Amino acid sequence: MKITNVEAIHLANPEIIDIANGTQDALVVKVYTDEGFIGIGEVDSSPHVAKAIIEAPMSHSLCHGLRELVIGENPFEVDKIWEKMYQGSIFYGRRGAAIHAMSGIDIALWDIMGKVTEKPIYQLLGGGYRKKIRAYASVLFRNTPQEMAETTKKLINQGFTAIKFGWGIFGQDPKLDIALVKAARKAAGDKIDIMIDAGLIWDAKTAIRMTKRLEEFNIFWMEEPLPPDDLAGYARVAESVDTPIAAGEEESTRFGFKELIEIGKIDILQPDLARAGGFTEGKKIAQLAYDHNRVCVPHAYSTGIVTAATVHFNAWLPKSLFVEYSMDTTALSRNLVKTKMQFKDGYVTVPDEPGLGVELNNKIIERYQIKNL
Ligand code: MG
Repeated sequence: MKITNVEAIHLANPEIIDIANGTQDALVVKVYTDEGFIGIGEVDSSPHVAKAIIEAPMSHSLCHGLRELVIGENPFEVDKIWEKMYQGSIFYGRRGAAIHAMSGIDIALWDIMGKVTEKPIYQLLGGGYRKKIRAYASVLFRNTPQEMAETTKKLINQGFTAIKFGWGIFGQDPKLDIALVKAARKAAGDKIDIMIDAGLIWDAKTAIRMTKRLEEFNIFWMEEPLPPDDLAGYARVAESVDTPIAAGEEESTRFGFKELIEIGKIDILQPDLARAGGFTEGKKIAQLAYDHNRVCVPHAYSTGIVTAATVHFNAWLPKSLFVEYSMDTTALSRNLVKTKMQFKDGYVTVPDEPGLGVELNNKIIERYQIKNL
């Protein structure tokens, strides 16, 4: 079997003008084969940039576009293809957008392998430890304590047993920050896990002070209190507080996560499969986490494609805490794939259909595709 083409489909929803209102854009990747199997993947990046990286012609031997590197290859040779893309883009790649674009192709290759062998991806990864994954509701901070309490109660009524509040108004006023978290904890009672995604806002001393101050509300993890490149600051925070520190959604490749563990001393690794290098690199990042006795909780906040990929990945992880469950209700987030993840009583069921187990909704693609840029 050979790869015959790679298509990068740029989708954008002009009705959404702020990421705070939901998924604005997406880059869907389709990998075609000479035997009619088509794999689906997704890149969570700048769609303009990642699309160009996939479609660019060769400039010189260390500067290829990804499509021409993979055409003619056997889609089952995922390690070999990953390395070929990595080496073929090494002058402009190695981290960031080139790895994001590779992630979309890699996810599609695993989808092809599953469709050909009629096996769900978690089995191809090496087997499933579990049939359902605990989900955490991922929402933005509300503006007032009352709204925090209302949202918390609403999510608990929907079945969630873990809730992450992130970004938004948080981090601007310490008194308000404390009041917001206090209100959520009061509404949630003692049995619900609450996480905070601080949104890259503090320096190390502020992060230490605020995290300690919030410990009385039993925070499950403090996510990204610092800018992603302040690794020395992360180490100071991680070694000064009892609350586990989570980070990594901007990071790509095992090399980036190695630094987060060894220099940043973080506790919870959050690779996004649609950015960090797909399943092939995700396996290596998860192995790194395991070897260092850290937990891997993948980031996932774009469309149903990355959500499905993340559920398979969580089924395979030896230790899985949660799948991130975006509460975004926009069309690209909710309706790009026809098959919905089954959510019940706080858990998402692991799909057993071949590959990712999702099918694209062509009506959404036709409606939101950006053409002829
Ligand atoms: Mg985050």
